Amino acid sequence: MCDKVGIQTAASPRYSVRAAFRLPLLIVGALLLVGLAGSSRAAPSSDKPAGLRCLERYYGVRSENQDGHWLVHLGKSSLPYDDGLNKHAAQRIETPDLQDMFGERYRTGPIRKVQRAEEDPGRARVEALFMARYGRTQGAVVSALLPIDFVGTRLRVHRWVASAFRAVAARLGPLLRQKPELREFLVGMGGTFAWRPIAGTQRRSAHSYGIAIDLNVKRSHYWRWRMNNAGLAWDNSYPQEIVDAFESEGFIWGGRWYHYDTMHFEYRPELLDDACYADPVPTGMGRPSQGGME
Ligand SMILES: [Zn+2]
Repeated sequence: MCDKVGIQTAASPRYSVRAAFRLPLLIVGALLLVGLAGSSRAAPSSDKPAGLRCLERYYGVRSENQDGHWLVHLGKSSLPYDDGLNKHAAQRIETPDLQDMFGERYRTGPIRKVQRAEEDPGRARVEALFMARYGRTQGAVVSALLPIDFVGTRLRVHRWVASAFRAVAARLGPLLRQKPELREFLVGMGGTFAWRPIAGTQRRSAHSYGIAIDLNVKRSHYWRWRMNNAGLAWDNSYPQEIVDAFESEGFIWGGRWYHYDTMHFEYRPELLDDACYADPVPTGMGRPSQGGME
């Protein structure tokens, strides 16, 4: 087609020689642009989302692409990575898909007051994912628990996160020798494993899998204890050093939530890895979510 146009224009006295070359080049360029646009439209369906790659890395799940949609195999069941529904913040927590788990970015750094109602990074959990990874029943999780010494307290945690708990303890040990006053946060602990739902909800707590810990209950602040007509008054007494020690080893902190629970730490390495947030953020309207102690 290009050759034909070139010959025609070169033979016509109404076109200059320069124009004769310019027209075929424009057509070739346009065809190339159309081709590039087509390939960039097709790419997202076959490229594995960054969040999904992280779920494979940290949860050992498998996935496959079926007609442009990613399906995640969780033992006996399979779930779409993206259920295609637009959700507001409360729905992302109550009925999340796997993609929604990355909807709110978890940010480390200096402790700050959380004031945005939808800022609850990590509270969206797909139960089937945690069951596939850590155990589907109370008995299955109990048989996977290991006793560890955690800065002087004997605790039972899931065997697959025991090394992460030990790594936190290894950070806290020298810190406590340097600042003995921090010890008060690490006594009277609320504990690790408890097969239970999140207070006031049907959703299973991360404590059910032996991957979470509540530190000193008496030093904790919790949104339900402080709720008033003016909304939630964020508060915290936990020090930066303790939060840093946990976050450095893959644990998120309940003090980073608008619905705060400051004694609560939970092993969620996928939320502390920058590479897991490379996908576009799902849209939402940002209505305050509900629920209880995690
Ligand atoms: Zn907790």
